[in-house]
Amino acid sequence: MRMTTGWQAAGPAALRRVPLARRDLRPDDIAVRVDFCGVCHSDLHALNAYDQDAKAPLVPGHEFTGVVSGTGPEVTAFSAGDRVAVGNIVDSCGVCAMCEAGQENFCHSFPTLTYGGTDRQDGATTLGGYSREYVVRDAFAYPLPSGLDAAAAAPLMCAGVTVWEPLRSLGVGPGSRVAVAGLGGLGHLAVKMAVALGATATVISRTQDKRDDARELGAHDLIASTDTQRMAEARDTFDVVLDTISAPHDLAPYLKLVATDGTLSLLGYLGPVTVEAMDLLIGRKKLSSAGSGGSPATAEMLQFCADNGISADVEVLPSSQVDTALDRLRRNDVRYRFVLDMSDLD
Ligand SMILES: [Zn+2]
Ligand SMILES: [Zn+2]
Repeated sequence: MRMTTGWQAAGPAALRRVPLARRDLRPDDIAVRVDFCGVCHSDLHALNAYDQDAKAPLVPGHEFTGVVSGTGPEVTAFSAGDRVAVGNIVDSCGVCAMCEAGQENFCHSFPTLTYGGTDRQDGATTLGGYSREYVVRDAFAYPLPSGLDAAAAAPLMCAGVTVWEPLRSLGVGPGSRVAVAGLGGLGHLAVKMAVALGATATVISRTQDKRDDARELGAHDLIASTDTQRMAEARDTFDVVLDTISAPHDLAPYLKLVATDGTLSLLGYLGPVTVEAMDLLIGRKKLSSAGSGGSPATAEMLQFCADNGISADVEVLPSSQVDTALDRLRRNDVRYRFVLDMSDLD
């Protein structure tokens, strides 16, 4: 075993610093010294749901960047010292139709999650990136293109690819009219990516408070969802509406914004929803969802971001302040992603 240090759940809202064991390197494994790990809404959900009596420990964190610190004997794609990025899946079956298609995120026998997953070989519970070292199969680590800041790039690996796949699969490009509902970790990256793809982007937010921020991110407009007149005027005008709101909410106002044959893609809240069929019928509208990304899309997204100067707007905190980051994320007090600097774990 390789020993490292990390932040482990010690109750529903608290983490404590503990020694962690990582597996010895398998032939196709790399060890990554984790430098920066983003704080995702999923981490909050996992901690909220954590049962102190659970047998398996919980170490969150599934969007991180770092440097290769060791390689197994069969690894050819990476060498010690290479900058790498790892997202929210670290293995898959490799043989099902989804894996064959490069959509390991939809693996028919479920992808291995970066934390809280079950390792396919030894059955161990995976422990996440809130730690100084991570061991991962080389196929699920990505070279971090030069030009991308390691801290600001970390959130690309979950928040980024989660909005990138739907933008690409829905054909967003020059002339597309995109609305982004919710301006948080996912939403702010969706705006940047949509604009860089040539689309016009409009932010839908509860109030006008984020108007200036939206403009700075490249959005062409902001519509307050509470402004019934503007919402009515915007009816049927967006080819794609990316809904990144993480709390349960009524989809009807957002479906009304979708243009004929357009799509509402639900990315933030992934629980049960209620839809009036008439809201789809009128305008032949489509409701879809997406999550995470397959390996080709993830690599493509990183290169696109490097080529277009896109990364997350981050607030970097020492990892010892992880509780502060989680508390503030819980209150939506973040613009737009917390990233933990893991160097204080040495
Ligand atoms: Zn995430
Ligand atoms: Zn598979």
